[in-house]
Amino acid sequence: MSVFSAKDAEEFLKSGAKELRYNRNLQITPGARDLLSEAGIRLIFESDSPTPANSPIPLSHASNTPRPMNTKPVATHSPDGKPYKPEHLALFTSPEAEKLKLEICDIGRRMWMREYTDGNGGNISARIGPNEFLCTPTGVSKGFLTPDMICMVDSNANQLAGSLPRTSEITTHLAIYKTTPEAKAVCHAHPVHATAFAVAGFEPPPRLIPEWEVFVGKAALAPYRTPGSPEMAEVIGPLAPKHQSILMGNHGVICWGTSVEDAYFKMEITDAYCRTIFIAMQLPSGQHPTIPCDKMSELLELKKKMGLPDPRYDLKPAELCEVDPWALMQDRPRTCSSPAQPCHPSPNFTQATNAELEALVQSLTDEIMAKLTPK
Ligand SMILES: [Zn+2]
Repeated sequence: MSVFSAKDAEEFLKSGAKELRYNRNLQITPGARDLLSEAGIRLIFESDSPTPANSPIPLSHASNTPRPMNTKPVATHSPDGKPYKPEHLALFTSPEAEKLKLEICDIGRRMWMREYTDGNGGNISARIGPNEFLCTPTGVSKGFLTPDMICMVDSNANQLAGSLPRTSEITTHLAIYKTTPEAKAVCHAHPVHATAFAVAGFEPPPRLIPEWEVFVGKAALAPYRTPGSPEMAEVIGPLAPKHQSILMGNHGVICWGTSVEDAYFKMEITDAYCRTIFIAMQLPSGQHPTIPCDKMSELLELKKKMGLPDPRYDLKPAELCEVDPWALMQDRPRTCSSPAQPCHPSPNFTQATNAELEALVQSLTDEIMAKLTPK
């Protein structure tokens, strides 16, 4: 593999090209990506073609210079000194694994660019065998991953390959793979808007945007558990078969997909939906429009044809409309983990506010009328 550095990016910019096609043989460094992105250069990843003929620059350009990353040997022992098995190392260095490692790095970069990860937060994994999974290491920013940082584990979270220790939260990912065979990849992060819903214990309301209903809705809301603990795996695993996006109480969001990018898409859609709702809640709306019941059935029919999971397939149209999203947003009910914890705000909150407003308008009207009336 060759490395395309910031120096290479500077050279590339002199060529005047508008896009850079690259493949799994070329690792673009974060610094080079920043320079290219600032100059508006489109990066196009070509997964299968080793040397695209229409590349604006010969990919060999970067490979002329020896780089330390190319020569880094694959670790033969785990970070705690145990020897890895040759068959695991063979799988870990297979072309399929190398391609997945690049995809994980690419998605890590996209999560970081969108501010879904903070510090060392977030983690990504992907199935590579019946009992083998690639995953991100612990303690590393997801914005600056390189393929040599990726680890491999079995379904019990034992590390099978990789020079760095695997993420502690892999056990939560593995719980999803266990209950949901369709899951080929899992992304976990702390995107601010969706995490705010998880922190408030507020499930995103339905029937507001079709994109959400078809590709994600409805998201599950899991109670808080210690990150990476067996208890966390216990609450997340059973929710996954019917929910591709799960809000983790007081923590973040975890999504699964049929590929690394698909899992990431679920997270993007979840955060965009939560963000839109936040803004919509601030706007005056006299009409409170929603997607009508019969149109909701159409959307769910479409979703079913696409083979996507949803817990509402058995509901009748009227049942799909039982929830008024605007009423939910005004009252902001919260999900209680125990009946002993009252967590609903006053149910009369909205009426009280309206009554106060009416009284204020009345007193202002009276005041104006008194001034206008001749004495
Ligand atoms: Zn987390």
